[in-house]
Amino acid sequence: MEERFDCIIVGGGIAGLSAAMLLARAGKRFLLIERGEFCGSKNVSGGVLWGTDLERLVPGYWEMEGGFDRFVNHRRLSFMDPGSCFSVDFKSDHFDQPPYQGVTVLRARFDQWLAEQVEAVIEAGPMAEESFLATNVLVEELLQEDGRVVGIRAGEEEFYANTVILAEGVNNLLTRQIGLEAEYVPADHVAVGVKEVISFDRKVLEDRFQLRGRSGLTNEFVGACSEGVDGGGFLYTNESSVSIGLVLGMADLRDKGLAPYDVLNTFKAHPAVADMLQGGEVVEYSAHVVSTGDIRGMPSEIYADGVMVAGEAAHLLLNAGKAIQGMDFAMRSGMLAAETAIAANDAGDFSAARLKDYRTALDASYVMQDMRSFQDAVHLLHSPAMHEKVPNVICDFGRQFFTVRNEPTPKAAKMMRTAIKRHASYWELVKLGAKAARAL
Ligand SMILES: Cc1cc2nc3c(=O)[nH]c(=O)nc-3n(C[C@H](O)[C@H](O)[C@H](O)COP(=O)(O)OP(=O)(O)OC[C@H]3O[C@@H](n4cnc5c(N)ncnc54)[C@H](O)[C@@H]3O)c2cc1C
Repeated sequence: MEERFDCIIVGGGIAGLSAAMLLARAGKRFLLIERGEFCGSKNVSGGVLWGTDLERLVPGYWEMEGGFDRFVNHRRLSFMDPGSCFSVDFKSDHFDQPPYQGVTVLRARFDQWLAEQVEAVIEAGPMAEESFLATNVLVEELLQEDGRVVGIRAGEEEFYANTVILAEGVNNLLTRQIGLEAEYVPADHVAVGVKEVISFDRKVLEDRFQLRGRSGLTNEFVGACSEGVDGGGFLYTNESSVSIGLVLGMADLRDKGLAPYDVLNTFKAHPAVADMLQGGEVVEYSAHVVSTGDIRGMPSEIYADGVMVAGEAAHLLLNAGKAIQGMDFAMRSGMLAAETAIAANDAGDFSAARLKDYRTALDASYVMQDMRSFQDAVHLLHSPAMHEKVPNVICDFGRQFFTVRNEPTPKAAKMMRTAIKRHASYWELVKLGAKAARAL
């Protein structure tokens, strides 16, 4: 029997579940298919969900149990050389109010919780018996008629829909299958993320990182954390664990012949990091491909007849040094794709000309605006000077500045000149500083 849904969503990650929530609220008949045993079982993320869109999906979520781990009120950016760590540290009670501007999440738990919220809305609505979240099912093919996407095939089963939202994540095989992205993805448009979850006694964690109630810390790292490989590190506090990891440029890893887990071990052994991790127990290790945020990595288009591409399947991600924004981009794009699917359904028009509204809405949203305005910062972050010379200069300066000897002390400007002379050229850093001022 031919099953026809208003919409089929491929992928039960953040983009897919966000789209599903809006379709459920609109009382549409939809099917979400996730290949993992449960939503979140295949997902890896550091991870901080930035911004306030979660409140739009699940109003008052911070009063609920499950889901998120901690809200972020303390941020730190650290520059490392092999023996030192110089940090810019910012903590503010402005961040302590709902709706919080960032929450730490463990994806296996968070995605499952979000799926439960979607199911609750389905059950309370008119499509309780006709909309489904199906897990443990792999979508193998998109079905097309006259060049238009009309459904999906999973094993022997075929399901039809007015529109399909591809929310399949960075390994976007179906997006490639319909020619929206080339089969071959250049290595410099993707990175590899490696992460460990390290468990602590909750009280030890809260004392060590000065956490109060559900408040949390995020720490990004640049420099020796990546052993000279293009990339950076992160440490985020969860309820009673930390997520620690690296995002490393695939091309640079290959060229330097290094393995990501070796680089992660070196990062963990750095004195500043080892002190934070002391006494913790590794309870999870994971690795995943992740987009670099280079806009040139995006598919040639993110809609076609009967289909839209959301989240990291469309390489929507920004890492301009302040934060990795992949989950919030996935959430907003999933919501915009669902809104377009709902409007297309009401109009009975599923053509590319109609679904272009998704592209227009995404272009007008902060997602594409930020991806466009921070491209220079993305490229700057990936320049060799940013993960070698700059952290070395900053740490050298820090060592001089914080040293107290019983002898005359040079002024800070002289210390900075000395540090620059030892690790870089003055003009190189002036040019870099000017670029950074424009890019950020
Ligand atoms: C180490 C690391 C750290 C990160 N840290 C952060 C962070 O701190 N903050 C942040 O915002 N982002 C972070 N990111 C990026 C973020 O995880 C992604 O951008 C985000 O998960 C993208 O969401 P998505 O829904 O588009 O895709 P995904 O979360 O990848 O979900 C895609 C889903 O589709 C399913 N799927 C795929 N193909 C099929 C198929 N054919 N059939 C059925 N199901 C399918 C998958 O199983 C998966 O569940 C990090 C990534 C990594 C790797």
